[in-house]
Amino acid sequence: MGNGLVNVRDQKFVLFEQIGIDKLFKSEKFGDYTLDDANMMLGEAEKLSVNVMEPTYAEGDKEGCTFVDGKVKVPACFHDAYKKICEAGWNCAPRDPEVGGQGMPLSLFTACSELFNAANYPLMMYPGLTCGAAALVEKFGTPEQRKKYMEPMYSGEFGGTMGLTEPGAGSDVGALRTKAVKQADGTYLISGTKMFISSGDHDLTVNNIHAVLARIEGDPAGTDGISIFIVPKVMVNDDGSLGEPNDVITGNIEHKMGIKGSATCTLNFGEEDKCYGELLGRERQGMAIMFHMMNEARLEVGMQGLGVASAAYEHALDYARERIQSRSILEMTNPEAKAVTIIEHPDIRRTLLWMKSYVEGIRALNYFVTYAFDQAEITSDKTEKKKWDGIVELLTPVCKAFSTDKSIEICSYAMDVYGGYGYCSEYPVEQYLRDAKITTIYEGTNGIQSLDLVGRKLAQNRGQNLKNIFAEIGKTAAAAGADPELQLLGASLGKAAQAVGGVTLQFQDWAEGSSILLAILNARPFLDVFGDLLVGWQLVQGAQVAAAALQKNYAEAGAQTQAQRRAFARNNSEAAYYEGKVASARYFTSTILPTIKGRCLGIQAGDRTPLEMLDVSFG
Ligand SMILES: Cc1cc2nc3c(=O)[nH]c(=O)nc-3n(C[C@H](O)[C@H](O)[C@H](O)COP(=O)(O)OP(=O)(O)OC[C@H]3O[C@@H](n4cnc5c(N)ncnc54)[C@H](O)[C@@H]3O)c2cc1C
Repeated sequence: MGNGLVNVRDQKFVLFEQIGIDKLFKSEKFGDYTLDDANMMLGEAEKLSVNVMEPTYAEGDKEGCTFVDGKVKVPACFHDAYKKICEAGWNCAPRDPEVGGQGMPLSLFTACSELFNAANYPLMMYPGLTCGAAALVEKFGTPEQRKKYMEPMYSGEFGGTMGLTEPGAGSDVGALRTKAVKQADGTYLISGTKMFISSGDHDLTVNNIHAVLARIEGDPAGTDGISIFIVPKVMVNDDGSLGEPNDVITGNIEHKMGIKGSATCTLNFGEEDKCYGELLGRERQGMAIMFHMMNEARLEVGMQGLGVASAAYEHALDYARERIQSRSILEMTNPEAKAVTIIEHPDIRRTLLWMKSYVEGIRALNYFVTYAFDQAEITSDKTEKKKWDGIVELLTPVCKAFSTDKSIEICSYAMDVYGGYGYCSEYPVEQYLRDAKITTIYEGTNGIQSLDLVGRKLAQNRGQNLKNIFAEIGKTAAAAGADPELQLLGASLGKAAQAVGGVTLQFQDWAEGSSILLAILNARPFLDVFGDLLVGWQLVQGAQVAAAALQKNYAEAGAQTQAQRRAFARNNSEAAYYEGKVASARYFTSTILPTIKGRCLGIQAGDRTPLEMLDVSFG
């Protein structure tokens, strides 16, 4: 069923059976799409990921990026793959056809993106960042800027970056020191240093367009005083031809734990006081504008985490089916017994099911949030739009942080399944684990995502966004509870929702005065229980759809008893798949969701020790 990277059957289940993205195809915006098109595009994405991108994954890691004579080179094998990504239009597939995209629903593109990220996400970062930066020019640029910069970015001729971080300004973007000075012709001279800039310099494209945050001389400190500028690596003439190099110097590239094929650069702007920049949008609107790119990028980083986790799970599963080691525990005293494949050992089976249920639940959650994004795009009803936008706002930090936190655990468990072989670079899981780690850090650390969730998102829209999600979870729990086969799953989901709901009230209390510090202190544990609840919700919803499909399958096959059903499913891939869906939800609701109550009690205990203990007592 798998292609070794992603379970495409499960992708299709979530898109077409659980969410039903074909509802989008009735709208004017996505009216040109059909289910056949969606299937075809997923098939094309799968072919590209398996045949073109994945074969460069290990090689890209081994060769890495180099910095010689001030120039950055990406791994040689990335060039052809990058060309093919752009030729097929995957670099900007979700953008409108008028600007060179394919007008693809974000939910469908997200599924394709899972395949690309599973295959080689360090490579995918080059077109991904370009697409995000070009969208800023599309949305906020002048017609001239769109022609000069956006068009060649969307075609893949130019690259693009997001330039926020500086040596003294990481999480605290407002502390940035990069300066912009207005010139008589309306352009700006930019000076300062940005560090850790992904795709900051490379040899895949003839030019690189940096979206740079800077403060115009005299503007106020903090985020309110920040503006955003288009800063080309090479100047672009009005007729689109390339001019002189701009005063943007690559200082260095980072030598790092993972994503070695992705160039992480220090960029020095204006060392010779000649760095040309154009204002994007209006002055002091820099943060608001950059947030358009950041919100999309946060969802994409969640998908990077999921992609790597998917691939790690698929590899671990294949390995567990092949590796022979130890006799069955039930045959331990029988010296004649043969060793079995490790998938027969209970601990490996539990580990695999833990990984499977998280991969599937996180997949469904991420696809659902991008589906909400699509719904907000197509509806003309203001209330509906507010509802869908609210879901995206509320759940974006969870998609980013929870998906990536779990990705690390999934990759680590994949390595455990491989035993010592997993730790060795001959097998791919050690690269997955190394590559996955940065996803918890960049695009706003997961700690910062938790603060965003608790500090801003819970109370947004007077708490209505949160209430809407709880209402949906309640509906799923009630429907499952009414089904004799899924009753326990529904009950478990209902109890978990009640526990998390209690904590949100506690947060309200803390935030409204009793102790804002306790709310901040418990933000990360809260994101963790909320993430588990959301994954449980998605899994139970999936189990309902799968159970209904199974009933039909079994009825058609005349399989009535448990034994007949098991015999049928053993030889029928569809029934086997649906049984697996119900198993994921059963396992998750039996073993993970019940832990939520205890963890919520831990939060509500309001323990202040980390706040009150002496700094010197940390050791
Ligand atoms: C490989 C790589 C690629 C990157 N790509 C880009 C890119 O393309 N563009 C770009 O602009 N940046 C990029 N970054 C930078 C990245 O986004 C930052 O590293 C990240 O935002 C954290 O900033 P920092 O490293 O300065 O850590 P710090 O901000 O110093 O944070 C250190 C720790 O303190 C915590 N912390 C900080 N402030 C608070 C607070 N108020 N409350 C609670 N905890 C807090 C953080 O969560 C973190 O755990 C990249 C980084 C790397 C390593």
